[in-house]
Amino acid sequence: MANPRLTPDQLDLVRALLDDVRARLADLSGGDQELLFAYRRKVYKDLMYDERSKPMVRRRLKQLKMKEQEGLCSLCNEPLPERGAVLDRTRAVDGYTPENTRLIHAACDVAHQAAKGYT
Ligand SMILES: [Zn+2]
Repeated sequence: MANPRLTPDQLDLVRALLDDVRARLADLSGGDQELLFAYRRKVYKDLMYDERSKPMVRRRLKQLKMKEQEGLCSLCNEPLPERGAVLDRTRAVDGYTPENTRLIHAACDVAHQAAKGYT
């Protein structure tokens, strides 16, 4: 399923929010470029975790799915590599949960995305 898209009005709202956040970060750092970098990086990382979960959560989920799927790719049914398998969400908005994910080959992921018209 396709990810939700923002309307033009919603895009305007989020651009205004970003302007506010950037102004707040500039204010917080008081002209210190290294502090601005650190604040921006922290906000970036935490927002990324909100969307993708923390790396430890995804790592544990990968191990669970590897066992559940008996080490086989959900798409091609061939053995998965020890490292580099992709945790694929059925609906991105539903996050990284056991019910909403499957483990697949990176190459199968690329082929599957291309087939869906994402790339
Ligand atoms: Zn595969």
